[in-house]
Amino acid sequence: MQLIDPNRFARTSWTGSQPPVVNFVLPCYNEQEVLRETASRLGELLGELKADGLIANASAAYYIDDGSRDGTWTLIETLARERGDTCGIKLSRNRGHQNALLCGLMSVGGDALVSLDADLQDDLSIIPDMVRAFRNGDELVYAVRRRRDTDTFFKRFTAEGYYKVLAWMGVEVVFNHADYRLMGRRPLEALRRYEETHLFLRGMIPQLGYRSSIVAFDRAERFAGESKYPLSKMLSLAWRGVTSFSAAPLRAITSLGAMVSVVSVAFGLWALFVRLFTDVALPGWASTVIPMYLLGGIQLLSLGVIGEYLAKIYEASKQRPRFHVEAITGHWGQP
Ligand code: UDP
Ligand code: MG
Repeated sequence: MQLIDPNRFARTSWTGSQPPVVNFVLPCYNEQEVLRETASRLGELLGELKADGLIANASAAYYIDDGSRDGTWTLIETLARERGDTCGIKLSRNRGHQNALLCGLMSVGGDALVSLDADLQDDLSIIPDMVRAFRNGDELVYAVRRRRDTDTFFKRFTAEGYYKVLAWMGVEVVFNHADYRLMGRRPLEALRRYEETHLFLRGMIPQLGYRSSIVAFDRAERFAGESKYPLSKMLSLAWRGVTSFSAAPLRAITSLGAMVSVVSVAFGLWALFVRLFTDVALPGWASTVIPMYLLGGIQLLSLGVIGEYLAKIYEASKQRPRFHVEAITGHWGQP
């Protein structure tokens, strides 16, 4: 149990006397085609929010370069030189979107942070509403997709199905919400205490509690460049969402095992009955071979699922750092 220091406790949440410092965190991997446009549109929005007195003048955008191989970092450095509202963090190598995002959330100060994609798919026009919700006391504001008409049928079908499966397994996720959200200082500090290796932030954050609300938006097409989330990365994230939050697959194996056992016992009894009380000859080929293949398959599959969890424990037990920062740029809230 942590000792509560009343002074520090008071300081961790925005008090409302001044406009809050709201910073933006954008993970980028090979985004040189879009960053200039993103910086200018976000800069315009920051300017408007500051002019309306909704956010403090020190608010800025922080681009987290997730070990890009193109000119992303050079561009971030240039933007930081050109504009007062742009800063950057460069990771030492590609660590994946979730780790890059976590790095931003854990490293950038401010009363609240808004996380969004660098490719302008997340509609910026709802940000004033998110900030207003924060100012009215919501410490977490989730942006939720209203429709999925910019997705392919395959993506829409699998994504919506996936959220339903997660919910069915008891994982608390906000339906159709990804990583576009506003987090106040208190949930950010709460998140700092989670030391999970296999990050699935959209599952972790609803566990934090605090007052939250939802703002709906329509997701646009990517402004330029192509998706940095190929099917393999998407599947890996999806599987992580299941294994980091639910033991349902392990329980399913137990249930399957129990069911197969019951059937086997019944089958055994039946075979015994046939053997003892009838004179029907049993050539026995199909009845031997089919269950053998079936059980072999089930066993291998079960071992595989158990192995997946074991591998997660193995990796987590090493407690390796999730990212290393190589460089930073911009003036980080200093005027
Ligand atoms: N991204 C990242 N590291 C990666 C892959 C992606 O930081 O290894 C960033 C990417 O630059 C973008 C965000 O994560 O800002 C979402 O990626 P993307 O737009 O490619 O995913 P999609 O929208 O297609 O699902
Ligand atoms: Mg995208």
